[in-house]
Amino acid sequence: MSNADRDPILLTPGPLTTSLATKTAMLRDWGSWDASFNTITARVRARLTAVVNGEGTHVCVPLQGSGTFSVEAAVNTLVPRNGHLLVLINGAYGKRLARLTEMMGRKLSVFETAEDVPTTAADVARKLDADPSITHVGLIHCETSTGILNPLPEIAEAVAQRGRRLIIDAMSSFGALPIDARTVPFDALIAASGKCIEGPPGMGFVFARKSALEQCAGNSSSLSLDLYDQWSYMEKTTQWRYTPPTHVVAALDAALDQYLSAGGQPARLARYTANCETLIAGMKEMGFRPFLDARIQAPIIVTFHAPSDPRYAFKAFYDKVRDKGFILYPGKLTQVETFRVGCIGAIGPDEMRHAVNAVRDALVDLGIRQVAPAAVKAA
Ligand SMILES: *Cc1c(COP(=O)(O)O)cnc(C)c1O
Repeated sequence: MSNADRDPILLTPGPLTTSLATKTAMLRDWGSWDASFNTITARVRARLTAVVNGEGTHVCVPLQGSGTFSVEAAVNTLVPRNGHLLVLINGAYGKRLARLTEMMGRKLSVFETAEDVPTTAADVARKLDADPSITHVGLIHCETSTGILNPLPEIAEAVAQRGRRLIIDAMSSFGALPIDARTVPFDALIAASGKCIEGPPGMGFVFARKSALEQCAGNSSSLSLDLYDQWSYMEKTTQWRYTPPTHVVAALDAALDQYLSAGGQPARLARYTANCETLIAGMKEMGFRPFLDARIQAPIIVTFHAPSDPRYAFKAFYDKVRDKGFILYPGKLTQVETFRVGCIGAIGPDEMRHAVNAVRDALVDLGIRQVAPAAVKAA
């Protein structure tokens, strides 16, 4: 039997597998001026804001494009041109945040730890105390390049205590991990449609502290990435500034229906945790070893060491697993050979079990016997 005529299951952390109800919500054309579409936009913004309990303090500003567009817009709008952003790095998305900060012409400092070491609140406190010119801190909540979780509440407190402002890339954690704007102070938190809310890709959004955003007119050095302008235009007209991704907004609305009726954030976290545990248990049985310590592993994406067998090559392994109906994700580490498996999307532990079986069959097909990484075998 072949999977060739079926959509493979995406074990990638965006785009990800969406439900049929979410997909079918895209079978309609919407006029961007039409009140019925603008009602959807307003509903999506309100429901997203409620996920972080941001009503009253924060506004949800949606933006066309992939998640990075919204990260860039947040930095470019909320950090004044003479501001100074300290970026906390332990992976590729932290590096990307640093790079775009520099390209937007803002003063940048970085604090980098190894890819398997979370940033701590003590690190942040030390850096901020040493340099009073730092105005903002940029944090990646779940660093998707490995799946490591950084301690957001503790870092947010250290930043707020020192009177600085926090910008959080919560792209791969928003909607699954608990984030409460009433207890975790931030000026901006960024996420996107095609991650844990399980919509299609194409739209990002920024929860901006209203009192901060109100002060940000003229900060942006880019026309299309000006969140202040996007927000004030939307408040005035109910419409998007420039062509909206109509199908994506409608599908995100449908995805939010399902998110809420299934039990919201706690239910999503429970399902992803079950996915992650099923995956890790099944992979460990074959000899695979996760790159991260379990204590710092977010249930979003898991990085595994590649098999030590000389017959292993990622491309052939990927193709075999793909033929069996599952899309894996390459590793993003420079020092060690790894691959990644996402736990998010409209999938449950059954799909994870099937994915583990596909990996097992692929190993047999490719004649790969030595699965445990070399360091583990030696030990
Ligand atoms: C997905 C993701 C982004 C955005 O990536 P895009 O490819 O622009 O959608 C940013 N940060 C993190 C942590 C992510 O997981």
